[in-house]
Amino acid sequence: MNNIIQLLPDHVANQIAAGEVVQRPASVIKELLENSIDAHSGRIQVVIKDAGKTLIQVIDDGAGMSITDARMSFERHATSKIKIADDLFALRTKGFRGEALASIAAIAHVELKTKTDNEEVGTCIKIEGSKISAQDACVTPKGTCISVKNLFYNIPARRNFLKSDNVETRHIIDEFQRVALAHPDISFSLTHNGNELFQLPAANHRQRITNILGGKTNEKLVPVEEDTGIVKISGFVGKPEFAKKSRGEQFFFVNNRFIKSPYLNHAVVASFEGLLKDKSYPSYFLYLDVDPKTIDINIHPTKTEIKFDDEHALYAILKSAIKHALGQFNVAPILDFDRDSELDTPYNYQSKQASAPQIEVDRNFNPFQSENSARSYNPSNSGYRREKPAEWESLYSGLESQSTADVDVRQIEFESEEVTGNLFAGKEDEIEKSTFQLHKKYIISTLKSGILVIDQHRAHTRILYEELLKNITVSAAVSQQLLFPLKLQFNHQEMEMLQEIKESLEQTGFIFSSFDKDEVEISGIPTLISESEVEILLEQLIADFEKDVPDNGFSQTDLLSKSLANSMAVRSGTMLNSAEQQHIVNRLFACKEPALSPSNRTIFTTLSIEELDKKFA
Ligand code: ADP
Ligand code: MG
Repeated sequence: MNNIIQLLPDHVANQIAAGEVVQRPASVIKELLENSIDAHSGRIQVVIKDAGKTLIQVIDDGAGMSITDARMSFERHATSKIKIADDLFALRTKGFRGEALASIAAIAHVELKTKTDNEEVGTCIKIEGSKISAQDACVTPKGTCISVKNLFYNIPARRNFLKSDNVETRHIIDEFQRVALAHPDISFSLTHNGNELFQLPAANHRQRITNILGGKTNEKLVPVEEDTGIVKISGFVGKPEFAKKSRGEQFFFVNNRFIKSPYLNHAVVASFEGLLKDKSYPSYFLYLDVDPKTIDINIHPTKTEIKFDDEHALYAILKSAIKHALGQFNVAPILDFDRDSELDTPYNYQSKQASAPQIEVDRNFNPFQSENSARSYNPSNSGYRREKPAEWESLYSGLESQSTADVDVRQIEFESEEVTGNLFAGKEDEIEKSTFQLHKKYIISTLKSGILVIDQHRAHTRILYEELLKNITVSAAVSQQLLFPLKLQFNHQEMEMLQEIKESLEQTGFIFSSFDKDEVEISGIPTLISESEVEILLEQLIADFEKDVPDNGFSQTDLLSKSLANSMAVRSGTMLNSAEQQHIVNRLFACKEPALSPSNRTIFTTLSIEELDKKFA
């Protein structure tokens, strides 16, 4: 039989390897930045054009390469960072696989200029599709400058697979931020199409975080420090009250490398137990230093997942360190080395005695009292208060018309005789006028043929969704002018995202009077919302867009409308008066698609007389 196996030519092997290492422009940025860091650079500049699709350039002032090394650097498995297998267990460098440059050169036009300290002139190499096309001596400062042009020029399928410039830029900013957060002692800059997005001077961790995420971040940070035989932890967690609607600000670094770890994330979230609002995520910037022997970074080509020898111990240490830090921050002012800690406590408070916490006892509380006057916890009042009786009971009390509690009897109306037609045949007029609310969650309405049960939140979401969609696509909405413009701070990335959806937001009624680097000024808002809701609404919107970044115009409008509608709609747990209930029922059935919420969930269900009859059979 003929032998059919042969070795792949190098350029093919490189292209295959590139598939793993280089997914998008951001992966190139990551690899080049890591190389510059490994070369002990003090200053690294990144320049990109068209979200890195046309040009990615990384300029450093690091060690540079000799002529031979410059050529060698593009060979596969060519690295200066490890020599023997044992070196893998003592890694302190970012790279070690010797694959990045070979992979990048296989799928782009690459130009390298580099010079070491003790050479007079540098080397310039041009390489494309793994083939060196030119090599010359050149004048260049000490360090290395790599330009990567026309990424994926020879793999159209991969090029077409790239997302819009906005999306790719966001990925680049993500990678850039991760590297910059891991190395505050190095100065970084990032320029996109001539606009400087970041200019980060060398700094300490706290300053670097603040420089990246905006000036207001500083006051939100609680320092975390712990030093054990297994791990040294330093960094910050965000104060619980500043927890975000998205996971955007969660960073773990292990030996100065950004990593993803759902397991350790769990430890952090667990240490915040009881301190966070529903569906909010704590910010954290945690730097773990461990013996390189105790981790394996080589489980994925992009090296963002790592394996720890003693994950359980790490979990426990991390959790207790953060709990401790949060506890300290609750009872004592933060000790911070960058600030004068004496300024934290006003002088006249320092000698004051702490007063014992006051406990209030409700002396009238009687657990055996009837349901009608039961007390229930109301989170919005943050206390116990007298509740209206549950709606089923109110039915009885209404009938007896001798309710002792504050039941609004007018709220209970009964089916009138005139009703004709059925729900699905016609429009609003078929919906019975009588409605009431069950469990502050459902609106119950009677039909001639049975009962209609509507989920109030979903119904309202559908109504607002259709209205918003119409406003954005067909006609501009009406705004309410604010007496005093509202100033809101966002971090750089959030600002980029807002900028992207600014136009659609304006169609819903927002008026932006200025758009700065990390602040927006809003002078008008949609009539449907109140001023106090604006910040939370925009935060939720950004969080939704972070999870799911639509490319084309329509799905962007759609997501925007869904997100806003969902935030604006009445929640379950909200008491609705009878006019509000009627309003929702009428408007719902004027919708194009009354049966399903924008996220395809059932809005209402019916119970027919026959079904009821069966239950009583
Ligand atoms: P790795 O980083 O895994 O060693 P790369 O393909 O990324 O593999 O780089 C190959 C080699 O090229 C590196 O080991 C290093 O010696 C050299 N190199 C790459 N980039 C730089 C740079 N910016 N400055 C100095 N040397 C560099
Ligand atoms: Mg490398």
